[in-house]
Amino acid sequence: AHLARIEAVDEKVHAFLHVDREGALAQARAVDEKRERGEELGPLAGVPLALKDIFTTQGIPTTVGSKILEGWLPPYDATVTKRLRDAGVVVLGKTNMDEFAMGSSTENSAFGPTGNPWDLTRIPGGSGGGSSASLASFQAPLAIGTDTGGSIRQPAAVTGTVGVKPTYGAVSRYGMVAFSSSLDQGGPCARTVLDAALLHEVIAGHDPMDSTSIDAPVPPVVEAARNGSVQGMRIGVVKEFAGEGYQAGVMQRFNESVELLRELGAEIVEISCPSFDKALAAYYLIAPSECSSNLARFDAMRYGLRAGDDGSRSAEEVTALTRAEGFGAEVKRRIMLGTYALSSGYYDAYYGSAQKVRTLITRDFEKAFEQVDVLISPTTPTTAFPIGERADDPMAMYLADLCTIPANLAGNAAMSLPCGLAPEDGLPVGLQIIAPAMADDRLYKVGAAVE
Ligand code: GLN
Repeated sequence: AHLARIEAVDEKVHAFLHVDREGALAQARAVDEKRERGEELGPLAGVPLALKDIFTTQGIPTTVGSKILEGWLPPYDATVTKRLRDAGVVVLGKTNMDEFAMGSSTENSAFGPTGNPWDLTRIPGGSGGGSSASLASFQAPLAIGTDTGGSIRQPAAVTGTVGVKPTYGAVSRYGMVAFSSSLDQGGPCARTVLDAALLHEVIAGHDPMDSTSIDAPVPPVVEAARNGSVQGMRIGVVKEFAGEGYQAGVMQRFNESVELLRELGAEIVEISCPSFDKALAAYYLIAPSECSSNLARFDAMRYGLRAGDDGSRSAEEVTALTRAEGFGAEVKRRIMLGTYALSSGYYDAYYGSAQKVRTLITRDFEKAFEQVDVLISPTTPTTAFPIGERADDPMAMYLADLCTIPANLAGNAAMSLPCGLAPEDGLPVGLQIIAPAMADDRLYKVGAAVE
């Protein structure tokens, strides 16, 4: 049924870069056979899923939304891919994304934009717009995204779906193409909080193949999602996430959610996080810096595209030509920014300062979590904007990440879930919940209570 749905609507939505029809049917049959043999199956066995094209899939194209990896067939499965397969989840295909996960609109994909199923002329968020659009258009009931600076939560917000960035280190990065390694975090996308929790449980957990993977039990997220409640909880409203630039309808729905939480028995506290206003600036130094280092591996020798290799050119020339042709404008912008910020003599002024801001933001969170159990805010200041509106204005694009980025810098767990439609445009609004690291279960407890 989901394959038929993809065939019927994805020409318009363009959520998928690759549909693995045969593979999906084979996986589904394998689950059926197991069921017939009476083998014990997990709760997600046989459930279809859309996988962001940043996770390697053995023998199945993995492009990361870039021309530079076009035609590359990974020789191995990412840990996330492997865990999904082991759980019997049926991987339908790979979803569209901003190239190398850099963007907030999916317009930076080398393979064309994805439309927001609520209004195809609008962006589905990014970088994981394909994953969230596949959920909102009922092409898949579950999806996987990655969140380096909001790329699970912001697409979830603007498509009216649920997205979770688990605690940094909760989900293995092995086989997840690196953008900014100290921030990159895979996580679940779904249409309900419980679905997200079931998926969270499948993909999270220690992996010796990832040196930053947390070696501790996964918090009880499914139990929390089944027992939603905020009775007696202290919930902090981040004071800084309001005001100029926030759409009226977004604030209206957010404020209604605050009232609902109060009615459900939570104590609402206003919390100030004074360093959060510097988060965007710090992120847009740290992420490009790490990206400039990580993307050095795309040298035309190891993977994918190789341009101009006709025997007349040196290896350096082939590398340069391949990068010129294979990387898009935003990726080049980030590599240049990061290379500049890390140059000798500039380190203290840029990268060093950004790291200090990162520490201040972490301290703001620590102080806040001495007073409250979770923090809440709108996920993103506006609803989905029209495709093309911010494409030539990187600064305007970066503003979409205003509320999501602090949790990445500090490594906290965070969720976005739908909280209604903005009255002025009828488009979905996202409520963000942020919990301390390793307290991911709190997101699900609160999320399930207000869903
Ligand atoms: N908008 C963020 C960026 O462009 C999203 C990054 C992400 O989470 N992958 O860097």
